[in-house]
Amino acid sequence: MKDIKILIVDDEENIRILFKEELEEEGYKIDLASNGYEALEKIKKSPFDLVVLDIKMPGMDGIQTLNEIKKINKDQHVILCSAYGEFKQDFSSWISDAYVVKSADTEELKSTIKSILKA
Ligand SMILES: [Mg+2]
Repeated sequence: MKDIKILIVDDEENIRILFKEELEEEGYKIDLASNGYEALEKIKKSPFDLVVLDIKMPGMDGIQTLNEIKKINKDQHVILCSAYGEFKQDFSSWISDAYVVKSADTEELKSTIKSILKA
């Protein structure tokens, strides 16, 4: 099986650590970014199979970051992620592959990743 590379973008360190540990257990190669600018730099340098993107971040939020990612690679798979109730639907979020509510239980995230990468 080829290495599947996933970039996790979240301003909260505990979420980055949780998602990294849980997804590495699934066999994915994980890289981390703590804000949108860092994420865009990493995506420009090397390709990722998937980006897991927090919506609520200081500076550039997840929706703005998503739009910039799509300018770099319009086919980039992106899962938007935010805490329950935090997310107000935005038209531009439709260009993401999926939306997952952030949770300590990462089963929904894992199954969403599997279904996107299989497609
Ligand atoms: Mg956040």
